[in-house]
Amino acid sequence: MTHAPSITAELRDLPPVDGWRVSEQTGRARTTCPCGTDTGLTTKADARTTLREHCTPERA
Ligand SMILES: [Zn+2]
Repeated sequence: MTHAPSITAELRDLPPVDGWRVSEQTGRARTTCPCGTDTGLTTKADARTTLREHCTPERA
């Protein structure tokens, strides 16, 4: 198992402009990792904290 945590920002669709899809970030994000870690939607700050902590190997 290789840990590869990543953050996905939540996007919200806005009305299209000239036929182009427009979206904006909602301020929420989610951190997931192949190991099964999944914070679900949380604040960006929490997502970043989880990512940082998850990237640091625990040393007993
Ligand atoms: Zn992981």
